[in-house]
Amino acid sequence: MRALVKRAPGPGFDLVDAPEPIPGPGEVVVAVRTTSICGSDLHLYNWDPWMAAHLREFPRIVGHEAAGVVVSVGEGVVEPNVGDFVALETHIVCGRCYQCRTGRAHICRHLKILGFDINGAFADLVKVPAMNCIRVPSSIPREWASLMEPMGNAVDTVLAEPVSGLRIAILGCGPIGLMGIAIARASGASLIIASEPSPFRRQLALQMGADRVVNPFEEDLDRIVMDLTDRDGVDAVAEMSGSPKAFLDAIRIVTPGGWIGLLGLFSQMVSFDPNDLIMKGVRVHCITGRRLFSTWDLVKRFLASRQVNLDRLISHRLTLDRYQEAFQALSQGEAIKVIFDMDR
Ligand code: NAD
Repeated sequence: MRALVKRAPGPGFDLVDAPEPIPGPGEVVVAVRTTSICGSDLHLYNWDPWMAAHLREFPRIVGHEAAGVVVSVGEGVVEPNVGDFVALETHIVCGRCYQCRTGRAHICRHLKILGFDINGAFADLVKVPAMNCIRVPSSIPREWASLMEPMGNAVDTVLAEPVSGLRIAILGCGPIGLMGIAIARASGASLIIASEPSPFRRQLALQMGADRVVNPFEEDLDRIVMDLTDRDGVDAVAEMSGSPKAFLDAIRIVTPGGWIGLLGLFSQMVSFDPNDLIMKGVRVHCITGRRLFSTWDLVKRFLASRQVNLDRLISHRLTLDRYQEAFQALSQGEAIKVIFDMDR
């Protein structure tokens, strides 16, 4: 089968002919139909120092955002069935640790991530535990199915607390921030302010439902937020950039008694005064992955009802052999979501 692999430490991937996986007990093999590139795949492609510290086994089939058809099931699998179209939850959890046993499997102590710790989904076939398959109803366009995983991150961040009637700022309008805007709109937020340096992404933020977009490097975000909120500050902030500046912006623009959802991952240390949070009585929610599996149900409902539409986020549809073009487009900031159509 075709597979995109990281053969050895260093930049780039290779498209190779790899052995087909065979499902073990409790596992299934999925024929990948659609798969998309996550920002972390780009870090892996470029071989950033952070990735170099995390990926130690080679060769590794990369990629994790994926959906496809179940083609074989291992011993003891009750669901899904051969022929089911499923999206993949990419966090593989142990089911035994304290966190898993107390309803918090998304922070499993023995977490393995598809495409990093085990072979991933930029391939014709991928093997996963049966419980990691989420059946996708026919009411959801097939092309959106691999985007359900990052959308789960957006759901858990924006809906860390209810937002109905509230004023929210979304900091960072990458694919997940853009999904977050649509989710906030669908969930009844009364004001959505989106902060993003890229003009192309700010334009998309308006199309996804933001009321006001701000370039945080050229405009006075604090003043704009205060003007739009009757000098209160926003009730909620979703930090979806991983930028230290945005983290500090969040602390300043949130109203006393409000909350901040932290999703963005930081590649550097951030220096801040914790008293600024404490004295404002701010609640901070740290988001890791998706809640298993209640978040997936919300994602399905938002998409099936078309309250959230992902079409605008798909900037490129390519075949797997054009992977270099795909990573180049992402590196140059020309892409939002690149989908590999595995049927072609
Ligand atoms: P992305 O890199 O495509 O988007 C980040 C956006 O933030 C970019 O558009 C960038 O221009 C913008 N930005 C940079 N500096 C900014 C600033 N000071 N203020 C406002 N915006 C700024 O990433 P993505 O795929 O949308 O993911 C969002 C973040 O979530 C990333 O940091 C990613 O690593 C992280 N992430 C976390 C988890 C988790 O489980 N916690 C899961 C997936 C992704």
